[in-house]
Amino acid sequence: MKILIVEDEPKTGAYLKQGLTEAGFVTDLANEGWDGLELAKEGHYDLVILDVMLPGLSGWQVLEGLRRAGIEVPVLFLTARDQVEDRVKGLELGADDYLVKPFAFAELLARVRTLVRRGYAGLESAVLKVADLELDLLRRRAIRAGRRIDLTAKEFALLELFLRRQGEVLPRSLIASQVWGMNFDSDTNVIDVAVRRLRAKIDEGFEPKLIHTVRGMGYVLEAGAHGVIP
Ligand code: CA
Repeated sequence: MKILIVEDEPKTGAYLKQGLTEAGFVTDLANEGWDGLELAKEGHYDLVILDVMLPGLSGWQVLEGLRRAGIEVPVLFLTARDQVEDRVKGLELGADDYLVKPFAFAELLARVRTLVRRGYAGLESAVLKVADLELDLLRRRAIRAGRRIDLTAKEFALLELFLRRQGEVLPRSLIASQVWGMNFDSDTNVIDVAVRRLRAKIDEGFEPKLIHTVRGMGYVLEAGAHGVIP
């Protein structure tokens, strides 16, 4: 699941990004309002965490811009100002929740999970499937042929990416930016090791094999692989 963080304070931004990434979310970070609005409009996020006091556009203006553009992504406001008017204003503009700084990360994570779940409530299901493999995004679990598979947060995010883009060859650079939130220009070994571990968990002892290497290009997940080297 993908979260956009719009926060101008470097320490808070880095803290949020690291914590949410460790919790298994894919995150992008914008440090001012205009960038935040642009990313939010284009990035297909499951949640936006929005600081109120931002350079460029304020958090309120970003939210207004989003709702005007018809984007109904859940929004969690962060503010240092614990004032009733602020809360009322944010909620009137269509914010979904409020958190006052400073906050405990555990509390933020609980709110984030609730909002993301609510965002999925309108959908038929939050389970991604291929062959006999199921990834339940809300319960955070993977099951193959009825057997529960334990995944790390990174492996979960990686499998989610593969499942969302079934049949598409994903270059290592794309995997790096989507799952690790950074570019591995030289060290694609990190990706290879992670894919190998994931493959060992979801493919070893099962048929058909799902994750395939496409030499010179990257990896693809599909149940019936044609023209690729397993
Ligand atoms: Ca701020």
